[in-house]
Amino acid sequence: MFIPRRIIFEKGSLDYEMGKNIYNTFKDNPLTEIIRLSSNRIKENIPGKDLYEFYREGKNTLVVGTKKGLKFQSCKPSANYQLPLISGCMGHCEYCYLNTNLGDKPYIKINVNIDDILYQAEKYIREGFPEVTVFEGSATSDPIPVEPYTHSLSRTIEFFAQEEKGRFRFVTKYDDVETLLNLRHNNHTEIRFTLNTERVIKEYESRTSSLNKRIEAAVKVSQAGYPVGFIIAPVFFYDNWKSDYRSLLNTLHRSLPKVIHSSIGFEIISHRYTSRAKNIIEEIFPETKVPMKEEERIFKYGQFGYGKYIYTSQQLKEMKEFFKTEIESLFESCRIKYII
Ligand code: SF4
Repeated sequence: MFIPRRIIFEKGSLDYEMGKNIYNTFKDNPLTEIIRLSSNRIKENIPGKDLYEFYREGKNTLVVGTKKGLKFQSCKPSANYQLPLISGCMGHCEYCYLNTNLGDKPYIKINVNIDDILYQAEKYIREGFPEVTVFEGSATSDPIPVEPYTHSLSRTIEFFAQEEKGRFRFVTKYDDVETLLNLRHNNHTEIRFTLNTERVIKEYESRTSSLNKRIEAAVKVSQAGYPVGFIIAPVFFYDNWKSDYRSLLNTLHRSLPKVIHSSIGFEIISHRYTSRAKNIIEEIFPETKVPMKEEERIFKYGQFGYGKYIYTSQQLKEMKEFFKTEIESLFESCRIKYII
């Protein structure tokens, strides 16, 4: 669970039930400073003279506010829309895409006007009828570490349980799932966990849950009947990478109830980076060991018009064959959605 060093309440946020609950949870906690804004000047209340410091202070700051414009961003290809419940994440994953996307806003922001957000989701579902409309809850965040006191996911899961043509999905690297286990979800919410080898987690994913904790949480939500999926990402090539990823898959196979093996979805994503991401990562983590040598990669233009450094075709071919063979031998009839 995320315990913020400071919580900044934007003007009006304490008028909402969720805002009040967050305030009551932390008001007597001596480790958390409470700041009530009369304006919405968030950044002035987060210390840090440069990006390095601002990142670390921002990652310890919770901003409680409201979602103003209610036009949802598209979330192709994995879903139709992003559901804007939360942005930001307490994790310090060095390669995280949020370092680039939310570079100057590393703080965690909760939108307390969840009724407005779900009302808007309902409108999109009606517009999409009779097709199913899918909403992604973690496009710009990891929503789990704040769930014990926001109950934002709980509200959302119960909302989608009643929507015949609405589906919800989110992904996490955390294990605070207890409050989700007894909800009526109606199989309309898919919970995915991002996994990696112990070595990658230890080296690059500071302030996230351990591999075992993530798998334990996955077992719990699968026993609670949720559809479950796994993203193995980012895959790094290093000495013994095959034996480490094989061991990860074996642990997963041993831990998960056999009855769900055939319904699991797998998504496998190799590591890639942009020049902009590399510059930001090197500023925030000057000691980083994330492999980002251009001469060891090939440059490829993506669908959004900018290029990324990806592993070589030979390496990607080897990776695809490896994961396909290993996953299919362990999880009969599972769904490998893609390996890229
Ligand atoms: S847990 Fe996910 S969202 Fe959070 S820092 Fe790590 S990669 Fe980014």
